[in-house]
Amino acid sequence: MSKKQVFQFLELPRQMPQRIPLELRTSGDWGELYGKLDKADAQYQSGRCLDCGNPYCSWKCPVHNAIPQWLQLVQENRIEEAAALCHTTNPLPEVCGRVCPQDRLCEGSCTLEEFGAVTIGAVEKYIVDTALENGWRPDLSHVQPTGKRVAVIGAGPAGIGCADRLARAGIHPVVFDRYEQIGGLLQFGIPSFKLEKSIIARRREVLEGMGVEFRLGVEIGRDVTLAELLEEYDAVFLGTGAYRYTDGGLPGQDLANVLPALPFLVQNGRIVSGNDPWGRPIAGWEDKLAVPDLHGKRVVVLGGGDTGMDCVRSAIRLGAAKVICAYRRDEANMPGSAREVANAREEGVRFLFNRQPQAIEGDADGNVVGVQVVETQLGEPDERGRQQAVPIVGSESLLEADVVIIAFGFSPTVPEWLATQGVEGSPNGRIVVGGDGRLPFQTTHAKLFAGGDAVRGADLVVTAVAEGRDAADSIALMLQN
Ligand code: FAD
Ligand code: SF4
Repeated sequence: MSKKQVFQFLELPRQMPQRIPLELRTSGDWGELYGKLDKADAQYQSGRCLDCGNPYCSWKCPVHNAIPQWLQLVQENRIEEAAALCHTTNPLPEVCGRVCPQDRLCEGSCTLEEFGAVTIGAVEKYIVDTALENGWRPDLSHVQPTGKRVAVIGAGPAGIGCADRLARAGIHPVVFDRYEQIGGLLQFGIPSFKLEKSIIARRREVLEGMGVEFRLGVEIGRDVTLAELLEEYDAVFLGTGAYRYTDGGLPGQDLANVLPALPFLVQNGRIVSGNDPWGRPIAGWEDKLAVPDLHGKRVVVLGGGDTGMDCVRSAIRLGAAKVICAYRRDEANMPGSAREVANAREEGVRFLFNRQPQAIEGDADGNVVGVQVVETQLGEPDERGRQQAVPIVGSESLLEADVVIIAFGFSPTVPEWLATQGVEGSPNGRIVVGGDGRLPFQTTHAKLFAGGDAVRGADLVVTAVAEGRDAADSIALMLQN
């Protein structure tokens, strides 16, 4: 290897794909922020990989992608082989390349981080987009059908991860979802500036080509019973997500113009894409779907996770005059991806750290006037090791606002139709899997498996994909035996 190649990582800096110009983003452009690397840039960026022999990037990636190997294939312009390799570990590589918080996962563990990590996510997106645009599709011609059939409840990342892997094992997956579109939160939660909806439509076509069958607009527990599925199928996978909204119990949260995050994002998604996956609103959210006009308004978003980042950046695109994100810990402890925080800042969002909301204040007509916050300092770690936000007495102030969006997160619940089949849930609403001699991702009912947010609590696309994929391996093992 020449000297030039050895030090390519220094001579060629890390470079992300081009982004939509700021003036377009702040004047209502909802297009995907990052473009695609071109061939030369993808090769240069892949060539920055040191092939260090200890690929921490792969280890830290929840699906353990063969990252150095596919970076090498990109350098050699063997894109279809790279795409096939990507799919051996990850059923949704082009989605993860777009939405993973790479700074905390693969890229955060890159040996080159100090100099600028290899743009792993952007290259993953390049590989799969290029291959699919060129007509490449996963080749399942060698797969022997087993004659087994598995019902998958939920067409989100966990359900898709499971269905993809089942199809590769010769097991016929039938995926049910209450909505008319696949993707779960990819479709109706994550805004199009992070993930264009055409990407999910293309993935549906890929999956159908692999033999995955979708039955959409069907709600289990309402249109079809779980008992019917257990009767008809050899096993059932549950990838039902986490939808119990955490409201924080703040005084004033029922005032007009206080919006829960997800209905706000769903409604924007409907307006932007013209898609209506929202065939059946979740009970109790119907009246929250009318999003107020944000033009010229002061918006305060409470919460510092991915959902909060999507809300602040959506509010900017909806013409809000001022957008503040208030978070109770400091920036280092904020759960939202550092990349998204940087994008939000650039788009004009102001962050107020160490501010804990105490109440939402309204006027005599019931309209929001602001959020009472108290400053905090970080105290002792809690049982999960996170430092507590301790209020500083006497530091209270009012953040003026016309609209408040609550983005404190979501947690799962075990639906009654599941509990009645003997499926055990934890006290915090998660479906219990594994342990006690059970297979990984097997619930307390031998034919029922589960994964994703319903098992872990609200987390990430890539962890849901990983669990769906690994649950499929357990299902295949059970059916073999
Ligand atoms: P879901 O995606 O929630 O899918 C569950 C599916 O099950 C849904 O389609 C639902 O309709 C269906 N379902 C449920 N019950 C039934 C039933 N009874 N019958 C039929 N169908 C049913 N993660 C990232 O990695 N990066 C991000 O940038 C990111 N941004 C996010 C932004 C927002 C606003 C939100 C809310 C989440 C974000 N996440 C992000 C998290 C990520 O979207 C989730 O962790 C992931 O989608 C979980 O996948 P899942 O398949 O477990 O559940
Ligand atoms: Fe990185 Fe996510 Fe791709 Fe893994 S799946 S390599 S964590 S972008």
